Amino acid sequence: MNSIANTDAIAEQKITHYSAIVIGAGQAGLSMSYCLKEQGIDHLVLEKSNHIASNWRNERWDTFCLVTPNWQCQLPGFLYQGSDPHGFMVKDEIVEYLESYYAFFKPPVIFNCPVISLTKKDNLFTVVTAKKTYTADQVIIACGSYHEPSIPEMSKAMPAHIQHVHSNAYKNPQQLPDGEVMVVGTGQSGAQIAEDLHLAGRKVHLCVGNAPRVNRRYRGRDVVDWLDDMGYYQTTLETHPDGKNAVHSTNHYVTGRDGGRDLNLRIFAEQGMKLYGHLKNATGDSLFFGDDLKANLDYADEVAKRIVDYIETHIQKNAIDAPADDNIYSDYLPEITTELLFNVANITSIVWSTGFKMRFEWIKLPVFESNGHPKQKRGVTDVDGLYFIGLNWMHTWGSGRFYQVGRDAEYLGEIISTYAEVEQKTFA
Ligand SMILES: Cc1cc2nc3c(=O)[nH]c(=O)nc-3n(C[C@H](O)[C@H](O)[C@H](O)COP(=O)(O)OP(=O)(O)OC[C@H]3O[C@@H](n4cnc5c(N)ncnc54)[C@H](O)[C@@H]3O)c2cc1C
Repeated sequence: MNSIANTDAIAEQKITHYSAIVIGAGQAGLSMSYCLKEQGIDHLVLEKSNHIASNWRNERWDTFCLVTPNWQCQLPGFLYQGSDPHGFMVKDEIVEYLESYYAFFKPPVIFNCPVISLTKKDNLFTVVTAKKTYTADQVIIACGSYHEPSIPEMSKAMPAHIQHVHSNAYKNPQQLPDGEVMVVGTGQSGAQIAEDLHLAGRKVHLCVGNAPRVNRRYRGRDVVDWLDDMGYYQTTLETHPDGKNAVHSTNHYVTGRDGGRDLNLRIFAEQGMKLYGHLKNATGDSLFFGDDLKANLDYADEVAKRIVDYIETHIQKNAIDAPADDNIYSDYLPEITTELLFNVANITSIVWSTGFKMRFEWIKLPVFESNGHPKQKRGVTDVDGLYFIGLNWMHTWGSGRFYQVGRDAEYLGEIISTYAEVEQKTFA
């Protein structure tokens, strides 16, 4: 049965009350549904789009691939079984992995069903969708963290001919008009998109922010493998040295492309990419940059070095026999420029890799911090029966990723099951 046929069959059912409703059918919502099924909890999954894996399918560029190794794809009951555990799935393979998961346990998903309001009264949640209103004893929000592309206001001051594309709408270099391209932001998306354009022979101007970087490999293994052995991915928000701030930290830039490699901006600059500090302001003629390029490049290198030093200590302490480091390092410092005229550089497009805002206004319950982030502890909120799953650092680094979302779903599955038993006894 394909996704939509399954949707129609479930949507036509007359039942409108469920023990649990999961909102969102990305990897987090599917993992949650699997665990609820394991716990024998009747439930429904409501999905805004008309497909599984809609964000991976529609909001990633053509050459996108995972940055995390395939072996970390550990959805509950469905660990990665492919032939390349140390490789990095490309976009179509990620979509296929999630579609196979859906086919594997056939979760009760209704597609094309955005939830427009969530309220609670007298122990009962009311879930209003564009099609129908449902009620539930418990609700799990699995809507991801990347809702609204964030593009700075200064973009409006720029010349009218400039084409603006957010990283979630960037597909390939051919999509952009002829001319030079500016990429703003060097988180994982910005650094990878800058490389994509650079490899295609486009002249790239890159505004470098304060994101850290990490080497892909060190002494014969992927850095992720070393860190996993060392227990890093078991660090919880409570035990993390940065505490709650870990939630807001920018991801380290590196790529899984072509089997995985470093993204070293100094090396890109040596090859002709033009680097600047952060983009400070723009007018109708000019762009203005901070004088932090050197500091930002140094910081990225310092973090990368700190990580390999940490691994080196582990290697020494455990007398591990590992080959010598063969990474290529560069201390190239590009010329510092703080102002650029649009027409001098012939910039015709800007790719804004400037992140996303969370949008949860439709949840009309007091479960948010003043900055709009969900207030929760390992997914459990202060409103009885309401949970989140899939948020970054909800419990550990892997909570917002393929690696550990399943573990969080198992944990919440137990809590939801216990709550259901207590409710049943109370109202029996
Ligand atoms: C550019 C990028 C690269 C990434 N790379 C990696 C990587 O290499 N490895 C890794 O492990 N992770 C990676 N991630 C992180 C993470 O794995 C993805 O963000 C993943 O999509 C999160 O899954 P999710 O199910 O939590 O959310 P999503 O995939 O965003 O799914 C949420 C679902 O909820 C639906 N929804 C939202 N609002 C509503 C509503 N009101 N009603 C009904 N449905 C709704 C959406 O349509 C969507 O299908 C990356 C993320 C980004 C943005």
